[in-house]
Amino acid sequence: SQPLLEIEDLRKVYTSHKGLLGRNKTEVTAVDGIRLQLNAGETLGIVGESGCGKSTLGRLIARLTDATSGSVRFNGESLFDLNKKDMKTVRREMQMVFQDPYASLNPRQQVQSILEEPLIVHKMGSKKERTERVADIMRIAGFDPDLGKRYPHQFSGGQRQRIGIARALMTNPKLIIADEPVSALDVSIQAQILNLLKELQGTFSLTYLFISHDLGVVRHISDRVAVMYLGRLAELSDSESLYRNPLHPYTEALLSSVPIAEPSGRKEPIVIKGDMPNPADPPKGCAFHTRCPKVKDICKEVKPELYSVEDGRFVACHLYG
Ligand code: SF4
Ligand code: MG
Repeated sequence: SQPLLEIEDLRKVYTSHKGLLGRNKTEVTAVDGIRLQLNAGETLGIVGESGCGKSTLGRLIARLTDATSGSVRFNGESLFDLNKKDMKTVRREMQMVFQDPYASLNPRQQVQSILEEPLIVHKMGSKKERTERVADIMRIAGFDPDLGKRYPHQFSGGQRQRIGIARALMTNPKLIIADEPVSALDVSIQAQILNLLKELQGTFSLTYLFISHDLGVVRHISDRVAVMYLGRLAELSDSESLYRNPLHPYTEALLSSVPIAEPSGRKEPIVIKGDMPNPADPPKGCAFHTRCPKVKDICKEVKPELYSVEDGRFVACHLYG
C-alpha cells in the first residue's frame, strides 16, 4: 500500500546577510536532501545531536517552515502544491507535539478551552459534540474531565505534556510529529509519556515521527530509526537491527554512550572527538570525517551515498560502498 508520508530530496537552506549592506552572505543547509517514507501505523524515530536538522525536518513536513526544494506527499497529496485552505484541511490530520508544552499552552486559557480550540479552528462539531470530545480525550489522556476547568500552571510538567498530546489528538489526526516530547521531563515521567503514546497509537492507529536527541528514548517507541548528521541521513534501519548492530560509525558512537544497552558484551563508550562542525562551513566529503574513528582518505573527498546494505537498512558511509 501507499506510504502515509513520502519525502523526496527535501532541502532547507537558510540564508543570512551580514556586514556592510548585507554583503556577507552565509548559507546554512539545515536539511540536505532527505528521502524517507513512513508507513501508516509505524513509528519512525529521528535521532541526532542538536543542530543536525531534525527539528527543521519536522517543521518542513508540517509546513511550519517552507522548504527550499523537494517534496512531501501526505496520503498521496503533494503538500507544497496546496493552497492555504487545503493545507489547513491537511493539518487536521497532521498534528505536532513539542518539547515544552508549557510554552505552547496559553496560561490564561482553561485546559478545556485549550482542547476545544483545534475543533473550533477546523469547524468540527457542534458545541455539545466538542464538549463531549474534550471530556473523552481528557479521559483517554488520563485526566478527570473536571480538571478541564483548571489552568496549565496547575498541572505538573508530565501532566502538561499529556495535555499537549490530548490537544494534538482532538482533530483525530493520522500523523503526529513529536519533537523531543519527553526531553524536558524526569526519566520516570518520560516512561509514562512514552507508554501513553504507545497506547494511543494502538487506539487511534496513529503514525508517529518521533524526533529526539536521545537514542535511549527512541528505542522503546520506534519501529525504525533514522540517524541524522549535519542535515543528512547517516543511517536508516529497523530499530532492532540498529540497536543490535549499528553500522554507521556515528550511530555506533552515539549508541555506545546510551546507558541502557545490553549488559552482556558491554563495550566502552566511544568518545566522539571534537564538536559538531559549523553547519555554515561543513566538511568536504563525509560530513562526519572530522570526528570519525574509522576515517579513510576517500572520506575527506567524496560524500558517501546512502547505500542499501541489507533488507531495509541504509547507511551513508564508505565502509559499506
Ligand atoms: Fe567515517 Fe568515512 Fe564512514 Fe564517514 S564515510 S562515517 S568518515 S568511515
Ligand atoms: Mg530541536
